[in-house]
Amino acid sequence: MEKPLFDSHGRRINYLRLAVTDRCNLRCFYCMPEKGISFLERKDLLSFDEMFRILKVARGMGVDKFRITGGEPFARKGIMPFLKKVKQDLKPTAFSITTNATLIGNYIEEVARLFQAVNVSLDALDKERFFEITRRDDYDAVIANIHALLDAGVQVKVNAVVLSGKNTEDILPFVEWTKNLPIEVRFIEEMPFNGTRDSKEISDWNYKKILEHIQGEFKEVEALPVPSGATSLMYQVKGFQGKFGIIPAFSRTFCGSCNRIRITPKGELRTCLYSTKGTDLLTPIRKGMEDASLEEMIRDAVMKKEKDGFAAAAARDGFIPIYESMTTIGG
Ligand code: SAM
Ligand code: SF4
Repeated sequence: MEKPLFDSHGRRINYLRLAVTDRCNLRCFYCMPEKGISFLERKDLLSFDEMFRILKVARGMGVDKFRITGGEPFARKGIMPFLKKVKQDLKPTAFSITTNATLIGNYIEEVARLFQAVNVSLDALDKERFFEITRRDDYDAVIANIHALLDAGVQVKVNAVVLSGKNTEDILPFVEWTKNLPIEVRFIEEMPFNGTRDSKEISDWNYKKILEHIQGEFKEVEALPVPSGATSLMYQVKGFQGKFGIIPAFSRTFCGSCNRIRITPKGELRTCLYSTKGTDLLTPIRKGMEDASLEEMIRDAVMKKEKDGFAAAAARDGFIPIYESMTTIGG
């Protein structure tokens, strides 16, 4: 009989986010420095077999929702057969992916067969601002691929990090975008994970400020119900086809119902985004650890899951900045 996974705060953990690579073809300035980070060598990355094994053990503990992330997941060679195997063999009840959508042009149909919903990171609807933020010229490909996904019947959730002085002019056009497109745009508060030692100021555009800004322009904004475990506060402008959401990623108002764990590209289990401590699963797996012991390791780590992102940050040397890049943790 399946024994579900709980933490010591009584939260049932049923959602795993797997970062399949730390590499990326973009250089979003809030995520990575322009020259990149010191990327992992191949031998230090989880292999597809090792990733599959971790997912399988987690699935046996009732973890039935998987999200694939990175780095850029489609930048990892061999990703498509892996995704198919996870879907077919492990039958997650929810299977999703977060991508910058630059590399999926040739795989739209396969992606549509694999995922009901795809999260696409796009921080600007303006082409020049897209370039300033990502330092790459892939805007046209991303927009074309979003439309191709929608045409293929995929639910598209666009994630836009709100960055003071960089893309706040895009907030209202993004909401306007939801008028005639059945798309969900989610505005994310910036978090201090940019992979540098610069203690640059974090954006003051918190969720309240973002919502007030939108309500200043769109008078008929309705709040929508939020399912348990969801991180996004959801809204719709009356009469619009699409919806918009706000993710208080830095304010951390959603930690109380957190149901998630993360596996980093080098095989660390992370129980909170704001903690820098992880549990190394790669070494014991390579030393031949059995599934039962792996399961115990995961249970022990999850029992120590932090109460919330503030407790996790306080347990470290302080609070901001966290020097890690999001690409090494999996956003
Ligand atoms: N490359 C993929 C992409 O961009 O969708 C997946 C990995 S990316 C690290 C996952 C998410 O983390 C993206 O939506 C990205 O915008 C978000 N992210 C990265 N750095 C962030 C930061 N400092 N604050 C808030 N969100 C961040
Ligand atoms: Fe790459 Fe995603 Fe980070 Fe941008 S946010 S640099 S697309 S991993």
